[in-house]
Amino acid sequence: MKTIALYDNDAFLREFEAQVESCQESEKGYRVVLNQTAFFPEQGGQTSDIGLLGEGKVIDVQVEDDEIVHYCDRAFEVGATLSGIIDWHHRFGNMQQHTGEHIFTGLAHNIYGAENVGFHLSDNTVTLDLNIELDDTQIAFIERLANEVVAADVPVKAYYPDEASLATLEYRSKKEIDGPIRIVEVEGIDFCACCAPHVKSTGQVGMVKVTSFEKYKGGVRVYFLCGLRALKDYNRRMDILSKAYQLLNCQEDEIPEKITSIMKNNKQLNYDISEIKAKILLDKIQAYPSELADVTIFTEDIDSKNMRDGVNALVEKHSGLCAIFSGNDDEGYNFVIGSRTRDCKAIATGLRELLGAKCGGSPQMAQGSINATRSVIEQTL
Ligand SMILES: [Zn+2]
Repeated sequence: MKTIALYDNDAFLREFEAQVESCQESEKGYRVVLNQTAFFPEQGGQTSDIGLLGEGKVIDVQVEDDEIVHYCDRAFEVGATLSGIIDWHHRFGNMQQHTGEHIFTGLAHNIYGAENVGFHLSDNTVTLDLNIELDDTQIAFIERLANEVVAADVPVKAYYPDEASLATLEYRSKKEIDGPIRIVEVEGIDFCACCAPHVKSTGQVGMVKVTSFEKYKGGVRVYFLCGLRALKDYNRRMDILSKAYQLLNCQEDEIPEKITSIMKNNKQLNYDISEIKAKILLDKIQAYPSELADVTIFTEDIDSKNMRDGVNALVEKHSGLCAIFSGNDDEGYNFVIGSRTRDCKAIATGLRELLGAKCGGSPQMAQGSINATRSVIEQTL
């Protein structure tokens, strides 16, 4: 790297001074290259540091043509000496997540032979991908051990071994690396080739918490959080829980039981409502004089079973086309049509061709949905 990467030797360096080597305007802001920097650029699945440079803000940091490029919100004079300040809350959070990933993957590797095939660390999500499938018991086991490693507070070291010692070292690596290899060692747990900043000892990770996992490309993707981010997430979940038990007026432990009972009740109520609607519809149908050949009813919120029952009742009394449309002009209608004398399949085809209805059925009865207003449907029929 042409730019001296200060974070490489000292992950805890928050402030530094540097000379501006170049500054150009670009679409992403001013593109500033310094002789040295403590800003970690986006690399290996981890988003970049942010912070302040002189009087400006550093919005993004990238490696481009072997240089570390700072994208800033203002221009600087070439040759000027600037002080840089890393947004420490952001960086320390990243170091906690990143070191937690080494602990988790190192254990998954040692116990189950898993290889890490992907890592993603952004402000919103942290994931690691393993090349083998693990079940919830195995993941819970690794999570438990990872937190024991955190509690044991073992050293985390980063160094460049010479070629001879590297040749005898067994370490994890995601890809072939050109140039000197930087090893990050979690003592007694893991050796891994990695260029990012990490905490000094596992105790600083605070906590490793898996939030979920899913099958992914023949292996597993683990969503997890460490340290202060895990605490923030814990508080967010506590907030949701407390809102839930206040709304349900019960104890925290009773929430599942309470929801089950509400869902059961709801199902019964929906059934009762559907029965009442069916009765209202049939009463309405009875009121039509039987001399009428064609009957079309527009209504709201009738389910398809009740619509079919309604059309069957209409067909017994009326010889022409019998139709029930349920819905409204804004969202469209579901419909059932039936007839003893007319070809409903042909009528449905007509509605499909003229109004784009989605439908199907037999000559006796057809059903479907249609996105048109009541007046257009009535004119078309
Ligand atoms: Zn790392």
